[in-house]
Amino acid sequence: MTNPFLAPSALPYQLPPFAEIRDEHFEEAFEAGFEEQTKEVRAITVVRSAPTFENTIEPLERSGGILSRVAHVFWSMTSTDSTPFLEELEERYAPRFAAHADSITLDPALYARIRTLHESPAAEWTDEQRYLVERKHTEMTIAGAGLDDAARDRLKQLNQQIATLTTRFDKHLQADTNELAVVIESEAELDGLAEGEIQAAASAAADRGLDGTWLITLPLFSGHPWLASLTNRDVRRRVLEASLARGTRGNEHDNRETVLELTAARAERAQLLGFATHAHAITADETAGSPENVLAMLTKLAAPAAANARAEAAALQAQIDATGETYELAAWDWDYWTEKERTARFDVDTAALRPYFESERVLWDGVFHAATQVYGVTFEERADLVGYHPDVRVFEVRNDDGSEVGLYLLDLYTRDAKRGGAWMNPLIQQNTLLGHPTVVMNNLNVPKPPAGTPTLLTFDETTTLFHEFGHALHGLFAQVTYPSLGGTNVFRDFVEFPSQVNEMWMLWPGIVDNYAKHIETGEPLPADVVERLQASESFNQGHDTSEYLAAALLDQAWHARTAGDEVTDVAAFEQDALAAVGLLSATVPTRYSTGYFQHVFSGGYSAGYYSYIWSEVMDADTVEWFKAQPSIREAGQRFRERLLGVGGSKDPLEAFRDFRGRDADIAPLLKRRGLEATS
Ligand SMILES: [Zn+2]
Repeated sequence: MTNPFLAPSALPYQLPPFAEIRDEHFEEAFEAGFEEQTKEVRAITVVRSAPTFENTIEPLERSGGILSRVAHVFWSMTSTDSTPFLEELEERYAPRFAAHADSITLDPALYARIRTLHESPAAEWTDEQRYLVERKHTEMTIAGAGLDDAARDRLKQLNQQIATLTTRFDKHLQADTNELAVVIESEAELDGLAEGEIQAAASAAADRGLDGTWLITLPLFSGHPWLASLTNRDVRRRVLEASLARGTRGNEHDNRETVLELTAARAERAQLLGFATHAHAITADETAGSPENVLAMLTKLAAPAAANARAEAAALQAQIDATGETYELAAWDWDYWTEKERTARFDVDTAALRPYFESERVLWDGVFHAATQVYGVTFEERADLVGYHPDVRVFEVRNDDGSEVGLYLLDLYTRDAKRGGAWMNPLIQQNTLLGHPTVVMNNLNVPKPPAGTPTLLTFDETTTLFHEFGHALHGLFAQVTYPSLGGTNVFRDFVEFPSQVNEMWMLWPGIVDNYAKHIETGEPLPADVVERLQASESFNQGHDTSEYLAAALLDQAWHARTAGDEVTDVAAFEQDALAAVGLLSATVPTRYSTGYFQHVFSGGYSAGYYSYIWSEVMDADTVEWFKAQPSIREAGQRFRERLLGVGGSKDPLEAFRDFRGRDADIAPLLKRRGLEATS
């Protein structure tokens, strides 16, 4: 019985042989994989002759075959179909994987060779080779491969300090969030909530031994979904004030000192690595390139967003006045009055939409049909190929001339062993160097209906399927030479762009009518519903854009600290940062305030919270472009060839320019968010 990870799979498209994979194969393949790649990298660095692309980069790209095969399958299974055995293995091997990756990224001999190549590129390199050298050099520099021993020791200390501080931040946040949950003494105070929400509040209270009361627990962001429906103004105030106070109350869960130490440590680490600030170090390895570029884009949006939020506030105040109330609009009133207007203007009973979104129709006549119309690809289910779970389905994707594109796997349903959310991941990453085909996978968390009944998706789940399929197409269409530049191996502030673009097909004329048909009557989704769904896109966007931008700019401000600068007052720092861009507002608080901004202080988005809107600028511009094209098939071909197909093999801004004929324009985003009138 041989270990199936030790050699490429013989199945079509090298699909991992899931039926043959047993628990005991993982550990053996991990060990063999570490050993194989360590040997392969050592073979590169013992070479005495001068470094060349062929004797350094190419063997590095060829290395790690076993590890790549087993890791893609392992991480896929631990996040979708985990078992106690796999969990134990994950816990034991996560540090080993990190250490193995470090042993390559921080290898001084390897770095010396790559630095030489970076300093004197050969004239005959292809653009992709040149770009690959650039990327490898940047990645290793940012990791600290170029440091001397003393500096490296300091880097290790700083990394440990940062790890400790981020853990402390989370611990404080969780404790303070629990402590600040709002206790409600009388059910009358919950007026406006749905029956199920009131029950949830009662059981949350009971869980804490507070029987006979109701507990409003706090989500991560500043607001609360129930603020839109709670009629009791004082309860709304208590909920929002509790949320905003997190991490800054002077108790043992206070995060202010943690943030000061953390941002100072990150600033020192950045300086050690040769960057002015942490934001410079982070953005050097992103599409944006520099914090200056990030700020230029964010500040362009800030003024129109703030102006629109003021106009929205005036309209809400007029609504309050009209009902005979005499109070001034406060932050905790915003969602309540906005919801009244939303209901009046765009009322769409989303529960009533589900019969129009039957999952098989959405998939075949919507998602796949759109890809056929736009990119000419066709789909065939391969019942002869299996995944790791009976719910996983395998589809073969071909071009209109019949040539192969790859395999697409879909695992639609939720189950206890699957983590939350929706995502795409590759199982076999396309590259021509090793002759790898493409196998990509989408996961969603749709509740599974009883056997024999159809799956009716919600509006959001349908959007999610189109979105995730956009990531899948990015992976499927990649035509790159080198493994590390394949498919969706692109920068974080770029990776959401293709998936956001794919969402547009969901309500596109000619596509929506093709799939959104009532399951019983066959009637198409009414045109006025489609219109209202589209029109609601720009509703309340002054507020939503402002609170997002405030958080994104706050993140940039904290990570623009320089080593040794003097910051002692967290509240003043936050206020100054927001006031400087015109986003300090009592009625529109930042989406996350410093004390609980988990994304950037412990969640891996430091100096990167801007990336959502960065990719949306390109998305909105691309959607406008598609709308203006006479043939979506021809337009799709251009988008596929010049953008999706290049994967991570060139500067994304260059790829965008090549596709669009110019840089991304911010105007379509302003228009989408209803911000253009004031800009
Ligand atoms: Zn996405």
